[in-house]
Amino acid sequence: MQANESIHSRIRRLRAERGMSLSKLEHLSGINKVHISNIESGKRRPSAQSVGPLAKGLGVEPEYLIEVCNWDLRDYDVEARYWHDVDERAEDECWPWTGRIGHHGYPRMWVNYREVRAARFGYKLLVGDIPDGMTIDHTCNNAGCMNPKHWQLVTGAENSRLRWEREKG
Ligand SMILES: [Zn+2]
Repeated sequence: MQANESIHSRIRRLRAERGMSLSKLEHLSGINKVHISNIESGKRRPSAQSVGPLAKGLGVEPEYLIEVCNWDLRDYDVEARYWHDVDERAEDECWPWTGRIGHHGYPRMWVNYREVRAARFGYKLLVGDIPDGMTIDHTCNNAGCMNPKHWQLVTGAENSRLRWEREKG
């Protein structure tokens, strides 16, 4: 693979490798073929909403379509991709996320072609289910921390109260 390939040429190349017409990719992804053509020619950037469907249509993981990613994620399952982006440190330290950070400093990742909070994926992987209405509170007050020992499940209201109290000091 080419490390400095843009998202535009990557989509164009993947479609060509699959012998797929624009109409075929439109059918598989639900994205209008004129829009796909504009993306491939570099006139438009795919929106966050269209990256997932395009990746699914092309049969690759969404991260693989994102320009900043220089390694071939097709070789990695979702759990391996998670650990690739966690900087695992000592047990009592914060573990920084090296992957994508979204609004309000929360780590994000792609799971089944949808972008989700990485801590929610990690919690289900390492701790257990998250009941409806519950959210992950970071006891270290570091939204980007991926150390499961710094996570606790609380209600949305508790989460706001705890954050406010910690900010007050
Ligand atoms: Zn922490």
